[in-house]
Amino acid sequence: MPEREAREYPGVPLGCRGLFSPHVEEYASRRVQAVAVMRSVLLALSRNRTANRLAKKYGLRFGATRFVAGDTIEKAVECIRDLNRRGIMGALNYLGEFENTEQGAAEKTRKLIETLDAIHSSGIDCNLTVKITSLGLDISKEICVANLTKIVEHAKKYNIFVRIEMEDYSHCQQTLDIYKEMRQKYDNVGAVIQGYLYRSEKDIEDLNQYKANLRLVKGAYKESAEVAFPKKADVDRNYEKIIKMHLSNGNYAAIASHDEAIIEKVKQFVKEKNIPKDQFEFQMLLGIRSDLAQKLANEGYRVRIYVPYGTDWYGYFMRRLAERPANVWFVLKNLFR
Ligand SMILES: Cc1cc2nc3c(=O)[nH]c(=O)nc-3n(C[C@H](O)[C@H](O)[C@H](O)COP(=O)(O)OP(=O)(O)OC[C@H]3O[C@@H](n4cnc5c(N)ncnc54)[C@H](O)[C@@H]3O)c2cc1C
Repeated sequence: MPEREAREYPGVPLGCRGLFSPHVEEYASRRVQAVAVMRSVLLALSRNRTANRLAKKYGLRFGATRFVAGDTIEKAVECIRDLNRRGIMGALNYLGEFENTEQGAAEKTRKLIETLDAIHSSGIDCNLTVKITSLGLDISKEICVANLTKIVEHAKKYNIFVRIEMEDYSHCQQTLDIYKEMRQKYDNVGAVIQGYLYRSEKDIEDLNQYKANLRLVKGAYKESAEVAFPKKADVDRNYEKIIKMHLSNGNYAAIASHDEAIIEKVKQFVKEKNIPKDQFEFQMLLGIRSDLAQKLANEGYRVRIYVPYGTDWYGYFMRRLAERPANVWFVLKNLFR
């Protein structure tokens, strides 16, 4: 246990690890509650628009560079070049979400088109991953689809794949509707399904008719027990189930998780079922378990790292802290640097 904690909480003083660690044996319920409260606070902060505005103004801070490649496309391309050299592919994300002006959504679209140009001209092995609330989904579906169409068409010219991300539950149905609409016209587009939602099993069945290329994740937002499994064990179980369903249906799966137990189960499953290595890939986030990503790449698996860049880093950063409240320690350390 101490070695595991030391690996998972590098730099966190011994006495503080238990505060964050879900692995300590005498896990007092007060501690569980404290972590749950911290998670809720961080997720609530991730949606705070004033804090987001301030964060944009003052640039990457508080150790956010651990999770974000930089504020320019040049830095992001450099980061992916380095990954490519190590046999790992990239997924570029121009940071931004919840755009509520038409002009802002058009500006995001322009930036994403520039990102595609940069991927193409640099020759990096990389695709694009997009949050469609940044393209105006909260303004109107038509504006969002028009912007997304420009992006997917531009990407098609370069033979670049575009992943539509899944955000909070309130956008789930609309996002899947838009994905299906796009999929009928384009083959370079994919979606994301979250294992924590009760509906996901049905969505996997439904998306089978689209031969969907899906990224499968546990889910990163704070959702109510009405729509999502509240217990981690149930999320993990459902996550494993949908991965197996989607792979068994013969569809391409991007298994996006840092959970070693899940990754081992997937490796076992594909071996048993003779699922070829080019029918799936593992995905991880920049700054998290890069040792594991490298190990998988060395073993011959397809591995892709999600590389976010841009000035709109705040919401993304807060969600990474919420997933792992031990990361708050890094923020505190960076505050005093
Ligand atoms: C490439 C990629 C794309 C994603 N896209 C989406 C999306 O579109 N929509 C969405 O809702 N969610 C998305 N997510 C986030 C996902 O839903 C989870 O919130 C996140 O991956 C944590 O879950 P886990 O599967 O890694 O497992 P967990 O059980 O949460 O974690 C397993 C282990 O991973 C490590 N770990 C996990 N998170 C962190 C962290 N933040 N810091 C340090 N260590 C950590 C720890 O060692 C932990 O024990 C994405 C994740 C990845 C990897």
